[in-house]
Amino acid sequence: MITSNFSIKGQIVFTLLFVAACIPANAQKSKKKSKAPNYQEVINEAHAKYKDVKEGANADYIEELAKVNPNIFGIVIVTPKGEVFTVGDFSEYVSIQSVSKVFTMAKVIEELGPEALLEKIGADATGLPFNSVEAVEHMKGKEINPLVNPGAIMSTSLIAGTDSAEKWNNVQATLNSFAARKLEINKPVYISEANDNVHNQALAVLLQSYGRMYWDPREITDVYTKQCSMNVSAKDLAIMAGTLANGGINPVSKEVVVSPSTVSHVLAVMSTAGLYDDSGIWFYNTGLPAKSGVGGGFIAVVPGKFGIAVVSPPLDKAGNSVKAQLVIEHVVNALGLNPYLIKPVGAKK
Ligand code: GLU
Repeated sequence: MITSNFSIKGQIVFTLLFVAACIPANAQKSKKKSKAPNYQEVINEAHAKYKDVKEGANADYIEELAKVNPNIFGIVIVTPKGEVFTVGDFSEYVSIQSVSKVFTMAKVIEELGPEALLEKIGADATGLPFNSVEAVEHMKGKEINPLVNPGAIMSTSLIAGTDSAEKWNNVQATLNSFAARKLEINKPVYISEANDNVHNQALAVLLQSYGRMYWDPREITDVYTKQCSMNVSAKDLAIMAGTLANGGINPVSKEVVVSPSTVSHVLAVMSTAGLYDDSGIWFYNTGLPAKSGVGGGFIAVVPGKFGIAVVSPPLDKAGNSVKAQLVIEHVVNALGLNPYLIKPVGAKK
């Protein structure tokens, strides 16, 4: 009888366990499925909210940039699945400028490995302006990063190629792979900067004096200037950012552009040095890797979720697009995307 007692108890216990296991599952089923974030709605909202902002001014230290229509305002999100959400002037072109530095850095890490980038350039914020001679002088060309001019010119000098033309082809091919199309150079912007980039040449020569320039300094500054002059739209930039958000696979072309490990290092440098002297403030407010350029292009990456780009030429004093910052902060807050905004668990009752 002990046996049958046990089996009855056993059955009861089993039944209770079974019911207990089923309750949460049923409760789960009856819960409403959480709504997928409506990216289109949020960017429409941001566009409407900020379209009339008049703060900021086009960069004018490169003459041609001052002539760009300051009212261009486009926002695009590209997800890893290749969904594209657009609003405003998403197909208007501006020159890519410093945003290009992200992609040459990626190529260098991909080709030479993350250690080489640390050893040959560095990954530390300089705390100084983007074209600072002091930043080079202070550390004798060491401990720079690829998102300020000296580090970016070093980065371009490390791109594979047996001559400058081959390096330029490699840079172009890299940008094209990230953008999923063949980008074109903006000739007036290139000529305008090439005629007036003695300061960048000086940075490259100074680096050479410290043994930290890996190609002829003047030739490579010219390649770098061309790289900065490529025309891109907000859609191009969002596809490029979307490739980073997707661990290196282009969401549109499906091409494997760089490895996930390369992307992790790239995003880290964007997080610490993506917005010139305001990189800390940006990260403090959003927790997202981003990069701006003096042409008014701006990208941010929400890893695994999407790349976002905004094009709007008027810049603030630090050199970052005013509207782009407002828009992306709006999107981050509306969708709760700051990765450091943690939902706590386990509070005592
Ligand atoms: N081509 C520009 C320069 O070297 C890029 C600057 C930028 O966008 O920060 O001055």
